[in-house]
Amino acid sequence: MSTGLAVHGAFSLKAFNTFGLECTAERFVEAFSVEDVQTFVRDPFLNSSLSLLLGGGSNVLLTATHLPGTVLHVAIKHREVLQETLDYVDVRIGAGEPWHDFVLWTLENGWGGAENLSLIPGQVGTAPVQNIGAYGVELNDICTGVHFVERESGTVGYYTREQCAFGYRDSVFKKELKDKCVLVSVDFRFTKRNHLLKTHYGTVEDQLTAAGQLPSPKTISDAVIAIRQSKLPDPAKLGNSGSFFKNPYISKEQFSFLQSIDANAPGYLQPAGEIKAAAGWLIEKAGWKGFRRGDAGVHALQALVLVNYGQATGPEIWELAQDIIADVQEKFKIGLEPEVNLVG
Ligand SMILES: Cc1cc2nc3c(=O)[nH]c(=O)nc-3n(C[C@H](O)[C@H](O)[C@H](O)COP(=O)(O)OP(=O)(O)OC[C@H]3O[C@@H](n4cnc5c(N)ncnc54)[C@H](O)[C@@H]3O)c2cc1C
Repeated sequence: MSTGLAVHGAFSLKAFNTFGLECTAERFVEAFSVEDVQTFVRDPFLNSSLSLLLGGGSNVLLTATHLPGTVLHVAIKHREVLQETLDYVDVRIGAGEPWHDFVLWTLENGWGGAENLSLIPGQVGTAPVQNIGAYGVELNDICTGVHFVERESGTVGYYTREQCAFGYRDSVFKKELKDKCVLVSVDFRFTKRNHLLKTHYGTVEDQLTAAGQLPSPKTISDAVIAIRQSKLPDPAKLGNSGSFFKNPYISKEQFSFLQSIDANAPGYLQPAGEIKAAAGWLIEKAGWKGFRRGDAGVHALQALVLVNYGQATGPEIWELAQDIIADVQEKFKIGLEPEVNLVG
């Protein structure tokens, strides 16, 4: 292998996935620069053996205990201000920067835009893959473009936000460009004044009122952090990967059926006429909330979150997920899809 990259054999991924699952990768390589990524993809052996691109491992389920091939962990760190005016600032951020540290940095600078996305685990370079979203804001609202290394040619490509085709937990990187490129940096635009603050979603407004605070990027971030800490398990204490399933889009007829079961069934009308149902509600109604089989379980407070109580294996978590999918299908005739990426 003619490469300067450090290649590790038989590498444990336990510390590299927030489920805390034990899985041994045949090979593990870390890239600290765009050039490292280019070296990797231009090495025929490494490129063809790539089995997993890994950021913070907070949106993957390792479904096996051994992963053949090569894992490439992107650890590119840099933060660059591209240009600024009195109204806005444009920045370019390396794919390996931790997402929440980056959000805090924008707040320290007094910039607005990322506050509702506080405390989401993972890395900046992975955020565009599923167009992360929370509390009424998506990456789509602040991202202006993405740089990536093409695996076939080793050249650096750039997609504007429009070309990224962001959708609900979706982007071109999950479709046409899936497995074809490695994201290396992301561009953002933030406001410096006249911030577009969003407090209407979830209990953000209540949290601000309770704290006696007026909305600002910083106070909204604090509110979001407080809400998240009260609702979601901390992966450092209880292995999980956040929402395990996507909220399904269903027809009006399917939604009427849910309302016949419970008049308060949550559903959000979408522009195309479909209804976005709540996967967590379906799982709870099917009786899975708090369920535990061995060390694999459904969180007691948040049915959308599957958890590893300590020694669960990837196959055990995946088996539980499949049982939930089958049960929800049988009871409500609705197909749930994992939001997490299945690997193995
Ligand atoms: C407690 C908790 C709460 C969460 N809350 C939210 C939330 O509110 N909203 C939300 O949207 N998500 C949430 N998530 C999911 C997760 O944090 C995000 O999806 C995050 O963007 C994943 O980042 P990561 O670096 O950990 O990605 P990883 O899990 O490492 O990778 C995710 C996918 O991206 C691919 N990938 C990784 N790096 C690259 C790269 N450089 N180029 C191309 N592809 C790559 C991987 O192969 C994989 O398919 C939560 C997760 C947890 C554990």
